[in-house]
Amino acid sequence: MLIEQIQITENGLVIEVVATTPTSCCPLCSQPSSSIHCHYRRRLRDAPCAGRRVQLFLTVRKFSCRNPYCERKVFAERLPDFVEPWARMTIRYCQQITSIGLATCGQGGARLAARLGIQTTRQAILRRIMGLPEVSTGSVLFLGIDDFSFRRGYRFGTILVNLESRRVVDLLPDRQAETAAAWMYHHPDLFVVSRDRGSAYASAASQAAPQATQCADRFHVVKNLTEATQLLLARCQAEILAAKDQEESKRQEPNKPLISIEEWRPPEPRSVEKARLARRASRYARYQQVLEFGQQGMTPKEIAGRLGLSSRTVQKWLAAATFPEARKRRKKPSSFDAFAPYVLKRWKEGEHKGIMLYREIKAQGYPGSERSVYRYLATLKQAEIQAPVNIERIKKYTPNTAVWLFVRDPKTLDEIEQEDLATIRLASPALKKAYDLIQSFLAMVHKREGKQLDAWLAKVAESGLPELLSFASGIEKDKDAVRAA
Ligand SMILES: [Zn+2]
Repeated sequence: MLIEQIQITENGLVIEVVATTPTSCCPLCSQPSSSIHCHYRRRLRDAPCAGRRVQLFLTVRKFSCRNPYCERKVFAERLPDFVEPWARMTIRYCQQITSIGLATCGQGGARLAARLGIQTTRQAILRRIMGLPEVSTGSVLFLGIDDFSFRRGYRFGTILVNLESRRVVDLLPDRQAETAAAWMYHHPDLFVVSRDRGSAYASAASQAAPQATQCADRFHVVKNLTEATQLLLARCQAEILAAKDQEESKRQEPNKPLISIEEWRPPEPRSVEKARLARRASRYARYQQVLEFGQQGMTPKEIAGRLGLSSRTVQKWLAAATFPEARKRRKKPSSFDAFAPYVLKRWKEGEHKGIMLYREIKAQGYPGSERSVYRYLATLKQAEIQAPVNIERIKKYTPNTAVWLFVRDPKTLDEIEQEDLATIRLASPALKKAYDLIQSFLAMVHKREGKQLDAWLAKVAESGLPELLSFASGIEKDKDAVRAA
C-alpha cells in the first residue's frame, strides 16, 4: 500500500492510501485478475498516531473476473490482513480496543481509550469482548468452584476455575446447584472438585460428578475457624473483664503490694537487691539536685550540663510531681510462666505447700526444679499476685483484631503482639486451650495432614469450648471433603 497524502487537521490525521498489488483474486473462483474495472473510496478509522486520531481514505479498486465460468463479473479487492470487507475500522484498531477492554472494563476502557486518541464507547468495547471467539477449555481435571457477586450482597454467579492452569474456565449466571450440576455433566473428566462449605456445590458435585473427590476449599475451612475464634474471643474477653471487676472488689489483703501475674518472679537475692537499692539511692540524690537547681532558676539545659544528664531527663524530672522510680528491668521468660496461673489458682484455694504444688505441675509437664517453685512461692508471701493480667493489653483488642493473634503464625508476630497474646492466654484457661487447638488445626491445614483430623476433633470434643464444638460439628458433617482438603 502506498501513502499518497497526509493532512493534519483539527481532528487528527487524514491519510490517503492506495493498494498497489498488481493483481487481486476473485473471492468466488479464486482466480487472480489484473484488469481494473473502477475505483471507489472507503473511509476507515485506524489506530491513533502519537495520540492523534487517524482517518484513512482508502482507494479500493474493483477488478473484473476473467474466468468465463465464474458468476461474479466484478469484485472489490480484499486486504485480508488490514481490514474486513465491510468494516469501518482497520483490524489493528479493533485489536487495540479489544485489548484495552480486556485489560480494564467497559467504562474504564472508554476513559483510557479517549486518552490514547481512540474514540469508542463503553458499549462498543463490551461488544468486542463478547464477540471474541470462545476459547476451548479442554478437559478440566481439577475444578475450583465458588460464587462471586455481580452486585455485592444482591446477585451472585458461579465462577469455575481450572486449578491446574489457574484460569477461569467458565462463569455461570447464578449459584444454584442445578446450574452447576448441568455444567459438571458436560465435563465428565472431573477428578477433584474444590468447593466452599455450602450445600449447593457439594450436592451438584455428588449428583453430576460422583467420580470426583470433593475437597473443602482450605480458604473456607480456615475462614470458618476464624469466625468461630472470633465468637470465642468475644465471650472470653467479656468474662475476663467481668472477673477482673470482681477480683478488684474483693481483694483479699489490701496492705500487700499488688503485682500482675506477668511480673511474678522469685524475690531477688540479697546482693542484687542491695545493688538495686544503691542505684536507686544515687538516682534519688541526683533527682534532689535537679530539683534544687531548678528552684535556683537554672534552665534544664544548664542543669543537664552540670549533672551529666540528658536535658530530656531533666525536663521530665522537673515536670514529675514525685520521684520517678526507674523502670523495672524486663522479666526473663521462664518455664514457670506457663504454670503460673495454675499455681496461683491452687494457692488461692489454700494449697500453700510447695512440694504439693511442685508435684502437681510436674505432672502437667513443668520442667523446672522444686527449688525454683519454692522461690516463686516466696514472692507470694510478700505480695499479692493479680491473676487477671494486665487488663489494658486485653482491652485494646476487639474480637476482630484479637483473632489475628490467634490464627497467625506466631513467628510472624512482633514482640508486642507476642506479649499481648501471652497475656490473653494467661488470662483465660479457655483461651489458652483454644489457642493450642486453633494452632494445631492450622498446622494440620498447612502441612496437609488430613489423617490427624479425627484426633483433632476428639480433642475439641474434650475441650468443651462451645464455639469450637460448633465449628467441629460443621466439619463432622463434611468430614470427607475437609480431610481431602
Ligand atoms: Zn471469479
